[in-house]
Amino acid sequence: MSTTSTLFIDGEWVASADGGTRDIHCPADGELVGTVSEATTADVEAAIAAARAAFDRGDWSAVPAPERGDFLLRVAAGLRDRKDQFARAETLDTGKRIIESEIDIDDITACFAYFGKLAGQDAGRIVDAGTSDVVSRIQYEPVGVCGLISPWNYPLLQAAWKIAPALAAGNSIILKPSELTPHTAILMMQLLHDLGLPRGVANLVLGAGAVAGAPLSSHPDVDMVSFTGGLETGKVIAASAAATVKKVALELGGKNPNVIFADADFDAAIDNALNAAFVHSGQVCSAGARLVVEASIAEKFVDELVRRAQLIRLGGPFDPDAETGPLISAAHRDKVTAYVAKGIAEGARLRCGGTWGEGDLAKGFYFTPTVLDEVQRGMSVVIDEAFGPVVTVETFETEDEAVLIANDTVYGLAGAVWTQDAGRAQRIANRLRHGTIWINDYHPYLPQAEWGGFGQSGVGRELGPMGLAEYHEAKHVYQNINPQVTGWFSGTDTA
Ligand code: NAD
Repeated sequence: MSTTSTLFIDGEWVASADGGTRDIHCPADGELVGTVSEATTADVEAAIAAARAAFDRGDWSAVPAPERGDFLLRVAAGLRDRKDQFARAETLDTGKRIIESEIDIDDITACFAYFGKLAGQDAGRIVDAGTSDVVSRIQYEPVGVCGLISPWNYPLLQAAWKIAPALAAGNSIILKPSELTPHTAILMMQLLHDLGLPRGVANLVLGAGAVAGAPLSSHPDVDMVSFTGGLETGKVIAASAAATVKKVALELGGKNPNVIFADADFDAAIDNALNAAFVHSGQVCSAGARLVVEASIAEKFVDELVRRAQLIRLGGPFDPDAETGPLISAAHRDKVTAYVAKGIAEGARLRCGGTWGEGDLAKGFYFTPTVLDEVQRGMSVVIDEAFGPVVTVETFETEDEAVLIANDTVYGLAGAVWTQDAGRAQRIANRLRHGTIWINDYHPYLPQAEWGGFGQSGVGRELGPMGLAEYHEAKHVYQNINPQVTGWFSGTDTA
C-alpha cells in the first residue's frame, strides 16, 4: 500500500478517483502523522458495489457461521501480535496516552474474541406451529451490505463493535472511520486481508462524512447503516436511511449523570468522579459530565473535586507523567471553549479550568479540567454534550429529586449511583432511564454485556448477544409436510 492509496476496495489498496488526499496531524503537537486518500462519491459507490457482489457471491455469507467465528478468533490473535503497531497508530491520530491506546487494543481484541466465540452458537429455533403437519423454524441470516460509520474518540474500538458482529453474522461491510483518525482502520483492513478474508467482504473508504459517509445511508444497495457519533449527525443519517427503509443502528451522545449520595465511600467516589469526567479529556460518550451530589456533602465533595482536578497533569502521548491528553482538534477546542463561556454567561460559576494548555502544550489542543457549579435546569451546560473535560454540579435533597435530575435529559446513555445502601442503589438503578448503570463504579463495560442508549442516545445495542442480532435478519421457514386442499375458494372449483 502506498501512503496515498489507502482506500481498500474489492481486496485492493487504491487511490481516490480524483487523487485527493488529506493530511493527518497529531492533536498533541500538530506533527504530521500521515497522508491518506480522500474518497469521492465514485469511490464509495465502487466500495458498495464490491460489497454487494461479494455478498451475492456468498464468498463469506455462505461460509458456516462457526468458521466465520474461527476467522474472528484469528483476527484477535493478529491484534495481539500487532498490538504495538495498532496502539501507536491510534495514539498518534488521537493524541491520547499510549497506555490508553494499549488498553483500547486489548478491548478490541476481546471484542473480536467474544464475537468469534458467539458466531454460530444460536442458529435459530424450532417453532411449535400447533400441528404435527408443519415444520416451522426461525433461522438467522446476514442483513447484507452494511455501512459502518465511526467517530474519532475511540476510533478502532467503536469500529470493532461493528466490524466483529457484522462479519460474525456473514455480512459484507464498508467502513467509514472519522476523517480525523483513519490509521487504525487502515491497519485493520490489512489484517483482515492478510488473514484471507475474501475480496470485497470488507472495504474501507476515508474522508469527510458528507462525501465518504453519506452514500452509506442513502444508497439503495446498502441494507443497513450502523453509526456511532453525534446526535445531529445521527438524525441526518436516520432521515437519509428512511428513503430506502434501511435497518439503522445509532450510538449517539450522552449527558450522563454521576449521582453521589452522602453515604458513598468518599474517596472512591471522588476518584471515580475525576475519572468519569476527565479521562481522555472528557471525549467519551459515557463521560460522567453531570455530577449530581447530595446537598449535605456537596460543598466538601466539590471542593475536593476542584482541588484534585487542578492537579491533573496534561501531556503528550509518550509523556510518562501525563494523566490525560489533548482534545482532538483546534475546531473542537474552540467548541468546548465556547460551550464553557456560554455556561458562564448563563450564570454558572467557573470553579476551575476553562483554559488552554500553555508552554510546550500550546502546540497541541489541550484544555484544562473544568468544573462548573451553581448551574440551573435549562442552562445549555446541563443540556448539551460538551465532549470535553467539563463537569457541572447539581445538588439534591431526596432520592426522588436525585432521580428527577438524573433523568432530566433527552439522552440516556449511561449513569452511575454511589451509595453504601444496597437497597437504595438498586432502587435508583431501576429508576434511571439510561442504557448502562454503574453502582459504585464508573466506565467499565464488558463485550458480553449490551451497550447502547435510551432516548436520543440511540437505536439498538452493540456488544452482547443483541449486538450480534443487530446484524441478523430473522427468517421464518414454514413447511407443510401434509398439504391439503383448503377449500377457501371452493366456488372456483368448477372443473
Ligand atoms: P460526528 O457525528 O461528527 O462524526 C461521526 C462520524 O460520522 C464520522 O466518521 C463522520 O465523518 C461521519 N459523518 C459526518 N456526517 C456524516 C453524514 N452526513 N453521513 C454519514 N457520515 C457522516 O461525531 P464525532 O465528532 O466523530 O464523535 C463524537 C460524538 O460521538 C459524540 O457526540 C459522542 O457522544 C458520540 N459517541 C457515541 C458513542 C456511543 O457508544 N454511544 C461512542 C463514541 C462516541
